[in-house]
Amino acid sequence: MNRIVSTDVLVIGGGSAGFAAAHAAASSGARVRLLEGTSKIGGVMAFCPGMPWGGGFPVGRTIGGLFETLTERLRQMHPPMARIRPSMLENFGAEVIYDHEAAVFLMFQMLEDVGVELHLGAYAGAPVMEGQRLSAVECFDRSGPFTIKTGMVIDCSGDGDISAKAGVPYTLGDGRGNMMGVTLSFSMLNAPWDQVFSNDDPYFKDHAAAGIAAGRLHPDLAKIYLMPAFHPDTVFCNSVHIRGVNGTDPQQVARATQEGRRRCFALAQFLVDCVPGFSQARLSGLGPTVGVRETRRLEAMHRIGSQELSLATKFSDGIVCCDNPIDDVMRGDSAMTHDAAVAQGDYYTIPFRSLVPQQVENLMFAGRLVCADPAAFASVRGMPQCMAMGEAVGVAAVMALDDGLSVQSLEPSRVVHALVARGLKGIGSQSLMEQPLAEI
Ligand SMILES: Cc1cc2nc3c(=O)[nH]c(=O)nc-3n(C[C@H](O)[C@H](O)[C@H](O)COP(=O)(O)OP(=O)(O)OC[C@H]3O[C@@H](n4cnc5c(N)ncnc54)[C@H](O)[C@@H]3O)c2cc1C
Repeated sequence: MNRIVSTDVLVIGGGSAGFAAAHAAASSGARVRLLEGTSKIGGVMAFCPGMPWGGGFPVGRTIGGLFETLTERLRQMHPPMARIRPSMLENFGAEVIYDHEAAVFLMFQMLEDVGVELHLGAYAGAPVMEGQRLSAVECFDRSGPFTIKTGMVIDCSGDGDISAKAGVPYTLGDGRGNMMGVTLSFSMLNAPWDQVFSNDDPYFKDHAAAGIAAGRLHPDLAKIYLMPAFHPDTVFCNSVHIRGVNGTDPQQVARATQEGRRRCFALAQFLVDCVPGFSQARLSGLGPTVGVRETRRLEAMHRIGSQELSLATKFSDGIVCCDNPIDDVMRGDSAMTHDAAVAQGDYYTIPFRSLVPQQVENLMFAGRLVCADPAAFASVRGMPQCMAMGEAVGVAAVMALDDGLSVQSLEPSRVVHALVARGLKGIGSQSLMEQPLAEI
């Protein structure tokens, strides 16, 4: 027999956006159910354990909100479980490096504390439409199918299957089907930082060409990033990329993950054999699956354009600040680039309307589903910004439900005021420049 449950707000996907959306909606008073297909929240964060949170400090100031709460709570643990540091990557500001397990534990705890009903190992399968409303979502877990009746749906699934089936138009990748490379991450334990990072580059660029020429390394490993992980003498690698993978196809993702394992093990062995500082190191913390950067981007009331970024546009409905570069990763034949998106010392904001579809009246989305052109997407997609987008739609969902409004008729300035009250910085009438510099 089909099980039926009901909720005020259904959040699909427990990545950084879904975590924040569920937390914000529940702490605003709604009954919230968070549905996550895997056994762990975090999304890309869980698939790439230890990936720094980049972009949380545009122009050196915190974006605030749940991102800041999470960071500060980790920093206040004994011993501290997070640090803020300058990013090693070009055109990125400060980032948060943290203990992965502590962060996941805290995120679960924070959801529990506000009463979010978690449904792990459960997939959203199909929407049930009543005109322009989603009255329910058909789901399944190992016990079989079940139905969640809901007042509001927040799609934070990254891939947007439910939104697409509900009729929201979308773009796949760059619009010609080229999606950014997917990545399997890993760490190297016992790699003394004083040796590995005694140069500005951990010697890799001096050795990669020889490794590729000798057939030991895949040519796409010509440029990679190795960075200090959270724990001493541990090095994190976030750049074993596999091109041309459609992240909405589970078979392609599984094949890419095995290819990633092959490349990660070959790279680890090469580091041990050839690169100073790694001779006693060993591979650890291999991701359980590749992290997918880009699949569908949904169409919304506003599409963020790269020109708006370069003009440092601060939208009246801006919900979070950002100065991340255009962090483009191997779409088609392209390389990895980090070109500045906005003049140094300035920032732009992400508008609420880029998370609101044009038609469906009780659906919003957040995170990497955001409506943006391909270049703008490459900048807006950092985890801190995804969290803030989730926080915005979580708050907005409760407002719309309380007032019986469609999401399209919700006054964006009310959402912005509520976010300012929750501690989001540099939006509404505030300038981020008025905020104190973060201690980095
Ligand atoms: C390899 C890689 C490196 C990156 N590096 C950085 C970095 O250094 N710093 C940074 O800040 N950002 C980085 N990013 C970007 C950032 O991690 C992502 O943009 C962000 O995590 C996206 O968050 P999300 O919540 O939108 O989606 P995701 O993290 O993709 O989460 C979506 C979740 O939804 C679940 N889901 C999907 N479909 C369903 C369904 N039908 N039912 C139930 N659950 C479902 C998935 O299991 C997943 O948990 C990186 C991304 C990748 C892939």
